[in-house]
Amino acid sequence: MKTNFIFYSILLSCCLVFNNTLSQNADRDFKYPNIILLIGDGNGLSQISAGNYVMGNQTAFDRFEFVGLIKVHADEVSILTDSAAAGTAIACGKKTKSGMLGMDAEKNELTSILEILKGKGYQTGLIATSTIVHATPAAFYAKVEARSEYELIASQLMSSSVDFFVGGGEKYFIEREDGKNLIKESKQFEFVDNLDDFRSSQSEKIGYLTHENNPPSLLEGRTPTLGESLSVLLEKFDSNKPFFAMVEGSQIDWAGHDNDIEFLISEFKEFNQAIDISLDFAENNPSTLVIATADHETGGLSVNNGNLENNTIIDAWGTGGHTATFVPVFSFGYDAIEFSGLYENTEIFHKLKNIVSH
Ligand code: MG
Ligand code: ZN
Repeated sequence: MKTNFIFYSILLSCCLVFNNTLSQNADRDFKYPNIILLIGDGNGLSQISAGNYVMGNQTAFDRFEFVGLIKVHADEVSILTDSAAAGTAIACGKKTKSGMLGMDAEKNELTSILEILKGKGYQTGLIATSTIVHATPAAFYAKVEARSEYELIASQLMSSSVDFFVGGGEKYFIEREDGKNLIKESKQFEFVDNLDDFRSSQSEKIGYLTHENNPPSLLEGRTPTLGESLSVLLEKFDSNKPFFAMVEGSQIDWAGHDNDIEFLISEFKEFNQAIDISLDFAENNPSTLVIATADHETGGLSVNNGNLENNTIIDAWGTGGHTATFVPVFSFGYDAIEFSGLYENTEIFHKLKNIVSH
């Protein structure tokens, strides 16, 4: 009798475990989170502080649940980095030399988180306010020794795991040294000329090259805005699959290089709006993780003083280049707590990869 009881107990617990595993797996197969990764190029803590006070001490950054810090140095003796090395660290989980994309310092090709997620059934999208072949977006799909090989990077985009993209740089696709017209030749991608066509297209892969070269700054009248492109992209993703979107506020960095606070604040506000849109989406779609970070700080900005009543700041700048100061990682939603703490920029890749490996 006792033996029977033990036997049935074991049998029962096996069934329970088995059932549990089944339902968890069934759940997880469709419940890998949507991931929105927002990268403000050059958007360090001083840039966020400046934006915060100019915007009346309230930004989308207030809405995040957790904050971490990353060490941004590249695989070099100097602790400075660039958007290629830092983008590769975030996208591919390995530090490399400045200028290199999707390769480690020994030129071994790396697999990006976008490629890993694509292999897990994700839909993928990239949006930038630079060219789409610029270092930050390219870190998610390209493998080149030099970030300036724009035409090669454009070719690599055409056969990449990227499903949707919006950014400048049409000339690297059609006015090429090899005489090819990638837009005409592409069998996979449909190219559209505006966001309305992007929205209504039924193609599984869509590219929208917004400008011949780099898009102008917002002060010069750039359209579409990051928020407009992001809203259409979020509509575009099939709700039966998880998605990965990388959204770059590219020109925050350029404002930093110019030590131009007006330029900086306008680009920051646009990036801030894209964060609001992402967090609104995450609040309505709980299986979503939103991360906002930077590749490095640009300009050595300090917020020396300011006025709370008229929302002004007094800016000072330390350099026309990048700095090695840690940059923050803000997170919200699914597994967001994993991104708190102080860690290497490469850990963002590993933390994301972990989320889809269990
Ligand atoms: Mg960039
Ligand atoms: Zn820069």
